[in-house]
Amino acid sequence: MTTVAPQQASIDAMARHLWDVLIIGAGPAGTTAAVHLARNGHSVLLLDRCCFPRDKVCGDILIPDALQALARMGLRTEVCHLGRPLDHAAIFSPARIEVRIPGDYVTLQRLHLDALLARTAVDAGAVLCHGNAEQVGVAQGQVSCRCTSGAEVHARVGLIATGANVRLLDDLPISRGGLGGAVAARFYVRSSFPLDRLVFAYDRSTLPGYAWIAPLRGRIFNIGCGIAADTSRRRRPNLRSMLNRFINSFPLAKLLLEQGEALSPLRGARLRCGLRPYIRAGSEIVLGIGETIDATFPFTGEGIGKAMETAERAASAVDIALRTGDLSRLGQFPASLERALRSKYLAYDQAQRWLSRPWLNNLVMSRVRGSRFLRQEFAGIVDETVDPRTIFSLAGVMKSLWY
Ligand SMILES: Cc1cc2nc3c(=O)[nH]c(=O)nc-3n(C[C@H](O)[C@H](O)[C@H](O)COP(=O)(O)OP(=O)(O)OC[C@H]3O[C@@H](n4cnc5c(N)ncnc54)[C@H](O)[C@@H]3O)c2cc1C
Repeated sequence: MTTVAPQQASIDAMARHLWDVLIIGAGPAGTTAAVHLARNGHSVLLLDRCCFPRDKVCGDILIPDALQALARMGLRTEVCHLGRPLDHAAIFSPARIEVRIPGDYVTLQRLHLDALLARTAVDAGAVLCHGNAEQVGVAQGQVSCRCTSGAEVHARVGLIATGANVRLLDDLPISRGGLGGAVAARFYVRSSFPLDRLVFAYDRSTLPGYAWIAPLRGRIFNIGCGIAADTSRRRRPNLRSMLNRFINSFPLAKLLLEQGEALSPLRGARLRCGLRPYIRAGSEIVLGIGETIDATFPFTGEGIGKAMETAERAASAVDIALRTGDLSRLGQFPASLERALRSKYLAYDQAQRWLSRPWLNNLVMSRVRGSRFLRQEFAGIVDETVDPRTIFSLAGVMKSLWY
């Protein structure tokens, strides 16, 4: 597949303009905000330190929240065409109890997804620039950003969407919270083994972490593993040996590799999970979105959809603030995000704590496997029509024993 690169200008030419919105980081969060704001007629400068198309370490799995956000931008058909639609996921417990959850999933390498999103932002009217943001500040009611090249750009509102790289927040009175999160790694394999479903394994070889196998287009597979980790600690979990244990003991992974070849080295990255959107007084015209505010889900490590959703919500708040001229309204953004999304993060956090215990994981999976009702509830959690607490709570356990 060839990827059409978006048009990317040099940051040095942008300095004299006062932009309505400066967005730093052109991953799913930054590009989504750029698309919505530019389509609403605002002047948007979108800055990224990388040239597109660029790789991003990821499992490349789009779950329903991401697909819905893509649909709201009019990109769903193209994403399904470029990627590989899959209609169910298999979840394995430590005792290898397999539960199949029907659902709406697409896999698409981030190399292609992020280039498509960046191109859509440019088509909507945003200006995409190559530049590494070094410092962000707020002075005299404007946001300013200095890049490594020395260029400085100015805007009425700033959105920080730099993913797990949160160094820019050091310059602002934005609360960073703890460094709760996870680390994960993946590599690509080409294999003739016929696997047509997503695999998530809470295998005994990976617990308290988990592993995944994501079939992509063209007999390529994304295989990886992740584990909750205090990323502020010096000693990180050894993901390479965790993945080797998985590959050597989990039959599907073993078969895939026996009939295939590795296409890339193992690459890892940190994930920031749990949602922490706080802003302190004085910096209301700069909002964080996506993984920068820890928007990735604990437990599943899925973050593309929530990066886009936090971006949509921020774009809507910025649009109203710019139209009314009342930028102080942006101060309400963290609380509105909390109200809309907090309960989901709490439930996923609970799920992570539960399913990292082998006996509880086996119990939940054996109940879900034996109950059509519970499988539907699980599918509902994935497509966000069912509150995760339906299963991951004391009441949920009681219910699972009953049904
Ligand atoms: C191994 C792994 C597997 C994962 N698997 C999945 C999955 O299958 N599905 C899923 O939904 N989520 C997955 N995630 C999480 C997902 O990758 C993130 O949640 C998602 O990328 C967050 O999007 P974002 O736009 O907030 O940040 P990012 O995608 O990280 O984008 C940030 C952008 O900011 C740019 N940038 C950073 N610093 C600067 C700077 N100083 N100046 C200018 N630009 C800058 C970067 O170049 C980058 O383009 C996975 C994560 C990992 C690590």
